[in-house]
Amino acid sequence: MLKLKAGDKVECRIKAGTIRNAYDEYDDVKTFEIVAVDNEGYYLFVPHYIFLNEGSVASEARCRSLGIDRAFVGESITYVLSAYICKVVSELDGMKCSRCRDFFGMAAPNQKDGTFLCRACKENPYR
Ligand SMILES: [Zn+2]
Repeated sequence: MLKLKAGDKVECRIKAGTIRNAYDEYDDVKTFEIVAVDNEGYYLFVPHYIFLNEGSVASEARCRSLGIDRAFVGESITYVLSAYICKVVSELDGMKCSRCRDFFGMAAPNQKDGTFLCRACKENPYR
């Protein structure tokens, strides 16, 4: 199962303005940025140059309840189940510290269990 997060970019297959299942027929492939995630799928930002039948405007209240960055208020978003993601284009480079939960760009796993511990937490375990 894919584990994606807001900021990741994915490719979806499109036919006649509708995002298709990754195994369906399609006539176009577009790249979308994920703006929010839930248990079953993803909310994608739909740029103006991509026409989709199912796009809807991200209101301020909706962005707040879904945890979408305020930068996307008023923009078009759409929801897809994870089966409709055909390819992951890029993931944000970096990791969250397993102790303080701060995000560090360019960070890579540095612990035996595959997690990342930042330098401040490493030097001061009681931080
Ligand atoms: Zn830390």
